[in-house]
Amino acid sequence: MLNRWLKEKKTFYVFPFWGLLLALGAPLGWFIVEALTGLTVSPIYRVVLYLYITLGTALAFVVFAGIMVARMEKEKRLFNHIASSEAELARREEISRHELKLTKEKMIKISQFGALIGKSTKEEEVYYKLAHAAHVALGFDRVNVLKKGEKGLTVVEARGIKAKDEEEVKRLEEMAIPCSEEGGAIGIACKEKRSFIFTSGDYIPPKYRLPSPYNEMEALRSKSFLLVPLRVEGERHARAVVGADRKLSKADVTHDDLLSLEILADIASTALTRLTLEKRLETLATIDGLTGIFNRRTWMELAENELNRAKRYDYPFSIVMLDIDDFKLVNDTWGHQAGDMVLKSIGSILRKSCRKVDAPGRYGGEEFVLLLPHTNGEAARKAAERLRKTLEATDMGVPITVTATFGVSWFNPEDPDTTIDQVLLRADKALYRGKDLGKNIVMISWEEGGAKDETGELSRRGSPTY
Ligand code: GH3
Ligand code: MG
Ligand code: MG
Repeated sequence: MLNRWLKEKKTFYVFPFWGLLLALGAPLGWFIVEALTGLTVSPIYRVVLYLYITLGTALAFVVFAGIMVARMEKEKRLFNHIASSEAELARREEISRHELKLTKEKMIKISQFGALIGKSTKEEEVYYKLAHAAHVALGFDRVNVLKKGEKGLTVVEARGIKAKDEEEVKRLEEMAIPCSEEGGAIGIACKEKRSFIFTSGDYIPPKYRLPSPYNEMEALRSKSFLLVPLRVEGERHARAVVGADRKLSKADVTHDDLLSLEILADIASTALTRLTLEKRLETLATIDGLTGIFNRRTWMELAENELNRAKRYDYPFSIVMLDIDDFKLVNDTWGHQAGDMVLKSIGSILRKSCRKVDAPGRYGGEEFVLLLPHTNGEAARKAAERLRKTLEATDMGVPITVTATFGVSWFNPEDPDTTIDQVLLRADKALYRGKDLGKNIVMISWEEGGAKDETGELSRRGSPTY
């Protein structure tokens, strides 16, 4: 029991203790042997013997104890090491399980948000959903999407971005970071369609630093951030760049973050490519390739819809039809290419000079139509007259003045049985009366005499008109 107590208390003392006990006990044993056997030894010899036995035994025990203690200490250390290794192993296992769970949750979120981004029907929707996903699913404090425009990259979506003051907000909205080396890492990410990761310990080479005045904006400053481009197939530069960081929680971004954001950005890029192709197909199907205005089929659909709306809501609309004067002459004298140039110019004039709600269309080879919703005949005649003058005054790249003859008709809601073909036919007839009268004139369908101004004069070339 004493042994166990000593062992438990202090291993080191176990052996010296027993050694000491034996060293003291040895002379006592000798004394007993002497008494029992009647052996007598001289006192000097006894002292020598006594010291010899005591010291010898003590020394032997000390050496033995030393070896034993060293062994026990080693065992103890080994045991402690095994115990701590097991604890560490368990801790790591726990961490791995936790990380696995987190990764799984993150992957589920990425796939869910990715599916949402993929279903976008508008470009803005892609940016909105991407910024939201990066913020919510990937846990970035701050996210911004910079879209490349004509002047450069501007912020179109942001999460967690806090500007210093009102003025900075204004500057942020107005800024356009160049899509080139002049735009630092953002510009290079856009130009070269590549990702960037900078963590707080990284040295950022000067060419990647955001130049002035952009770097003065608090909202764009960060020491640890990611930049990932959104690429649209067939486009030389990135369509947009998404930036993300954890500045608010003062945490670094990681390579894992980069991979996750790149997965979302790839899904967004695919959605943008799809939307671009859809838009191109739609344009091809609805827009006339040469003039850039609606083709005949689409324009007819628009006109038909307009008639139905006008009947339902009881309002007027007008149609202006125009045919280029002596266009054959242009083709025959300066070639088809010059003719095409004239057609292009007229398409561009029609696009620019009408209201947003008006629909210009190419009705035939060199015949154009204009649909003017909520416009009665008189207002349409004035619009046509303005257009006639604009055409006359525009240099279309050929040595003669190109003019056109106009026919105007309108839908009067008081006459609800009218069909779109009837309205068109009236404009057409008015136009051909204009051709007969000498061209470069606006003719109206509702008065047999043609187009008249306030003084009753015919609106035509050379006359003091409108
Ligand atoms: P008018 O003043 O009576 O209208 O005379 P015009 O010479 O314009 O006569 P017309 O309407 O008969 O001529 C139409 C010409 O337009 C004939 C055709 O070669 C030309 N044309 C039609 N489509 C195109 C086109 O896409 N490009 C070019 N360059 N010419 C076209
Ligand atoms: Mg014609
Ligand atoms: Mg013509």
